[in-house]
Amino acid sequence: MFDELIGNDRVKKLLRRMLQSSRMPGAMLFSGEDGVGKKLFALEIARALNCRLPQGLEACGTCPACKRILKINYPAGDDSDDWKGIIWTDHPDVGLVVAPKRVLLVDQMRAIENAANYRPFEGKARVFIVEDADKLNENSANALLKILEEPPPTSHVILLTSRPAWLLPTIRSRCQVIRFSPLAAAEIENYLTQNKIADAAEARVRARVARGSLSRALEEDLDDFLEQRKAMLEVLDALARSDDRLQLLRSAEQLNEAQYKDEYETRLDVLETLIRDAWLLSLDANAGIVVNEDVLPQLKSVAKGLDSKRPAIWIGQIEEMREQLVVNINRKPATDALFLTMAAASATELPAKRRYIIK
Ligand SMILES: [Zn+2]
Repeated sequence: MFDELIGNDRVKKLLRRMLQSSRMPGAMLFSGEDGVGKKLFALEIARALNCRLPQGLEACGTCPACKRILKINYPAGDDSDDWKGIIWTDHPDVGLVVAPKRVLLVDQMRAIENAANYRPFEGKARVFIVEDADKLNENSANALLKILEEPPPTSHVILLTSRPAWLLPTIRSRCQVIRFSPLAAAEIENYLTQNKIADAAEARVRARVARGSLSRALEEDLDDFLEQRKAMLEVLDALARSDDRLQLLRSAEQLNEAQYKDEYETRLDVLETLIRDAWLLSLDANAGIVVNEDVLPQLKSVAKGLDSKRPAIWIGQIEEMREQLVVNINRKPATDALFLTMAAASATELPAKRRYIIK
């Protein structure tokens, strides 16, 4: 049942309409951020088409066919050879392909074409899901074109991607494109509490750090996140005060410490969400829409009297720095410079000394 999946009500409506008119497209492209449920929706279509005891138009979720479709036989190890073919579910008509390394292979697309040309073995429709379809290169994309163009009426190919722009136009134009939205924080929060994955307080934080992705909400190491956020909150506070250069340089140094090397980009992400929150608060926005709602008092103290032009400039400066990181500038001096420029940003327009205290 689509109702068991969270969010994306618009997509549910659309898919129900397609099931109702018996016109489920043979080629579809699900686009949307990672972790919003694209694969689960695709599997739910496979279930709806193959369920033995359909409830109206939708899958019952409990018959053997429904259960077996959710059992995906991913190879146990990382050996790329094991990932080269179609990865079948426990149902003989539903399979997936995953790029063994960086690229989806021509052979994998040929395997789909070949399998799609068979009539269903057991159910009513064969469904093939291509994960991370943005990993198609020109050759493998071309190998897939024919089956996307004229799939047999009992076969459906569903491409999943978080980067639709990376797909060749020839692929996109042959698919019915279905766009998935990020999940609302409240949807994620409900899911976490209802499934007893987290208590109310933790669910609230997880839902907000997830930025619309359930998988991020589930996987995020919360202690790690809280620690990163504490450090970035100190940076934000020092930025707002402008005159605490020592603290800024210390923070820049910490950001560059070897132990945080892998976290560098994440920490910048966290800093950006904090800046956005402070920005919203400086514009007197409703506290309910800030991401880091659990540190509201600290954010309010930063936002108090903050010239709302400054956060906009800060975000621009961070983005600029990120672009430079791509071309491999030396991170250490770049971070020092970033923080100091941010601190200087339109500081002259601000009243002299102000102190905000963060505990
Ligand atoms: Zn069923």
